[in-house]
Amino acid sequence: MKNKSNILDSNVLITGANRGLGLGFVKHYLRKNNTVVACCRDKTKAVELINLESNYSNNLIIETLDVSNENSKDALVDRLKVRNLKFDLIINNAGVCIEENLGDWTKDGFQKTFEVNTLGVALFSQAIHEFLKEGGKLINISSGMGSITLNINPEAALDAYAMSKAALNIFTARLSQKLLPRNIVTIALSPGWVQTDMGGEEAPATVDGAVAEMVNTIDKLGLQESGKFLSETGEELPW
Ligand code: NDP
Repeated sequence: MKNKSNILDSNVLITGANRGLGLGFVKHYLRKNNTVVACCRDKTKAVELINLESNYSNNLIIETLDVSNENSKDALVDRLKVRNLKFDLIINNAGVCIEENLGDWTKDGFQKTFEVNTLGVALFSQAIHEFLKEGGKLINISSGMGSITLNINPEAALDAYAMSKAALNIFTARLSQKLLPRNIVTIALSPGWVQTDMGGEEAPATVDGAVAEMVNTIDKLGLQESGKFLSETGEELPW
């Protein structure tokens, strides 16, 4: 069975959609005539998303979702059932980066990081996968920092973050096998280093540039890529 090669006139759900890369994905998929469910923690503070509503009142749905909160996930699933929406593409984009180095590591820092970047993705994927259409795509936004082989910048205070993304990677590989019978493509996708609140101003890539590269990679995905860890340009990354 072929996977839909181009996401157009499709239903797309994005987590962490109020700023950074999530907001960039929302803008892209709205411009391409898709229906977008943009999930954010606090709708009242999602100014940029709310501003988009005036131009895209028919195809932008803003939903509340805290991926680390079970009640929040359950409530979203109930609302989606009422809407009777099925998705061609789900992007697990929400993430946090709590910087603590050897000497400052705290249980709280590790827990909060894993609760969003790893458990948040795993449990939200469990809650949402039945809303994916046969042949749909599930994209987990990972990071090169999660590659054990590359072990990028080990002196930086990004240990919990790197661990959480490495764990996300093995989760993605395992989930891909479970969703393959429904012809769903599941990948871990690294955005590169991007100018966002998390990436910082010195990052080489802009949000628009990184999103353009990632959507190009997402558009081209077929079942043969399922379970892989890819860069923004679609190159396979080492685990
Ligand atoms: P930002 O910090 O700019 O945005 C993070 C987004 O995640 C915000 O919308 C934030 O919402 C949301 N979020 C955080 N915690 C939760 C939660 N518990 N529930 C729901 N949403 C939450 O980061 P980026 O846009 O840069 O990052 C997006 C993804 O890309 C992340 O997964 C990140 O790890 C990954 N990435 C980014 C890189 C970069 O260079 N920028 C490099 C490699 C990977 P709120 O506004 O409410 O805090």
